[in-house]
Amino acid sequence: MTKKRKAEKRVVFANWKMNPTSLSQAKRLFLDVRTGLGKKFSETEVIIASPMPYLNELQSLAPSGRIKLAAQDVYHEKSGAFTGEVSLPMLKSVGVGYVLVGHSEKRAAGETDLDVYKNVQAVVAGKTVAVICVGEKSRDRDGNYFGVVEAQIKSALKDLKPTELKYIMIAYEPIWAISSVDKSRVATPEDIQEMKLFIQKVLSDCFSRSAANRVPILYGGSVNKKNAEELISKGDVDGFLVGGASLRATEFLGIINIVENYVKTA
Ligand code: PEP
Repeated sequence: MTKKRKAEKRVVFANWKMNPTSLSQAKRLFLDVRTGLGKKFSETEVIIASPMPYLNELQSLAPSGRIKLAAQDVYHEKSGAFTGEVSLPMLKSVGVGYVLVGHSEKRAAGETDLDVYKNVQAVVAGKTVAVICVGEKSRDRDGNYFGVVEAQIKSALKDLKPTELKYIMIAYEPIWAISSVDKSRVATPEDIQEMKLFIQKVLSDCFSRSAANRVPILYGGSVNKKNAEELISKGDVDGFLVGGASLRATEFLGIINIVENYVKTA
């Protein structure tokens, strides 16, 4: 039995990916989540990464800041001749406080470790939180996947000062467990807890144990209402990155409820 960690705020982070397909649907989903949250949830940080074109409107629907806004990507330059790109100052101007960096779907489309490094540098320099996604494509008996995750973290965090870690969250997302890859595979709580400890060790080797322990480590990959309780209690993570299940307000609120109850009874 895993011992519960001391009570502290947890994070439930929605990655809407390229959904929904219209601004009106995005506003509906956002408002449904906002209404469902009410004032009940005090121990859970709720963050939504919506597609870029909706961010400005969603900002006006979240005046109290109860739901924080995130972007799914950023370009490391501030402005200039970079057609199609969006910079951190632009994102900040529409209320973004968190940016996903290095999501596996971006890496699969060609994003390199160097791109991830540059984007982390830009986000942190802008005093915004970079949620760095790491994770292996597959697992092997020899445990080489630990080396994959270690290399991704070391490369992304290179040149950061310990004081800048307050702008970092790590999301462990084993690619094989992401629902768009294979609907039947979910990481076990043991897989997740083991990787969380490993990530903390990597961070403490690069910085210090106390700095490492302050970096929230999230899990992402097919999280839903059915598995959230077991994953948060036995996986011992600081929260979840939720893709598919965040597109249904009741399902997403159900996950938040589970996390909230876990923190309150911890
Ligand atoms: C993701 O792609 O970030 C993710 C966690 O997706 P899902 O929850 O659908 O597996």
